[in-house]
Amino acid sequence: MTDTRVDLTGLLRGEVESLVKDLGQPGYRGRQLFQWVQARRTTEPEAMTSLSRAFQATLTERVRVSRPEAARAQRSADGTRKHLFRLADGEEIESVLIPDDSRLTACISTQVGCPLACRFCLTGLMGMRRNLTAAEIVGQILALQDGLEEAERISNVVLMGMGEPLLNFPQVERALRILCDDLGANYSPRRVTLSTAGHVPGIQKLAASDLGVNLAVSLSATTDAVRDEIIPINRRWPIAELLKACRAYPLQNRRRLTFEYVMLDGVNDFREDAKRLVGLLHGIRCKINLIPFNAAPGLPDRPSPRERVEAFQRVLHGAGLTATVRESRGWDISAACGMLRVEKDTDRDRDRDSDGAQHATRD
Ligand code: SAH
Repeated sequence: MTDTRVDLTGLLRGEVESLVKDLGQPGYRGRQLFQWVQARRTTEPEAMTSLSRAFQATLTERVRVSRPEAARAQRSADGTRKHLFRLADGEEIESVLIPDDSRLTACISTQVGCPLACRFCLTGLMGMRRNLTAAEIVGQILALQDGLEEAERISNVVLMGMGEPLLNFPQVERALRILCDDLGANYSPRRVTLSTAGHVPGIQKLAASDLGVNLAVSLSATTDAVRDEIIPINRRWPIAELLKACRAYPLQNRRRLTFEYVMLDGVNDFREDAKRLVGLLHGIRCKINLIPFNAAPGLPDRPSPRERVEAFQRVLHGAGLTATVRESRGWDISAACGMLRVEKDTDRDRDRDSDGAQHATRD
């Protein structure tokens, strides 16, 4: 028999309140239920001790609290952990936990596969399978947090896993509202970052929403000729349009946009690119994240040599821009940027060294 119970994992606080009222209970019971589900991560009504026995019994009949099923976990030598989750329909997604000194960042997926087919990204090779529901997006965070020790808490959330978040805007928006609700997991929007390959209408929608999350844009080229080749969505929304939308993105005090730039050998890593980038970003409050390309079988590019990445960074610094080189994490377990792809029986032997950390900022 199919399960007709309502899944609470993907419901907004207000929706849980309405549901509870429909069940003949006062609204504050709905807020309590939302807290049990989202803040205390309780999945069984019997364990929700502030609710009456009778109401617990009603809930057992009428609602459920879903989690993606943890199918496999892998730990990298650098502490990064990759989790494979199986969804109710058998599809699989990956999420990554990245610890560093003071933070524990969860990198989560928003789609099964991705339709954008960026040349340097393995997820693109999977093609698009489907959008995730809000319950599946929120469920990744809840399941990851469930697996941690009491004292460990996910501090930051980045939508940089599989998929293009802005192509799944309604479910992503809903998930972010749930995760940022102060009666729920209570993430500050300042600790949440949505990364896009450059879906302009989506950026505009995000700008018009009051979500207030950080925006990261995967720019990765300084001419349309090159960007058209490596990030095909550029043919629809070229660099000028993309940057116009970025300029219009509302930034609170001291907040900045992030531009991600994957460094590809002989493609987008020339000195001229660095100079053009300075010009393109003129007047935008931003930082630039240079990402060493993670090579993989099936991807045609090679990583830029370290010296070229550093020379590129020096040009940006020289122009007063903030530019960091993203440390590649979890590379040995294919958990690094652009390496999330669910495919059974792939040999993931790689022959590159992982990158050392580098960090330099100057405003
Ligand atoms: N669709 C979104 C989020 C997923 S990709 C986006 O494009 O931003 C997250 C980041 O990983 C992007 O900045 C992307 O450019 C980068 N990336 C993809 N493949 C990569 C690879 N093979 N090596 C390094 N970074 C990669």
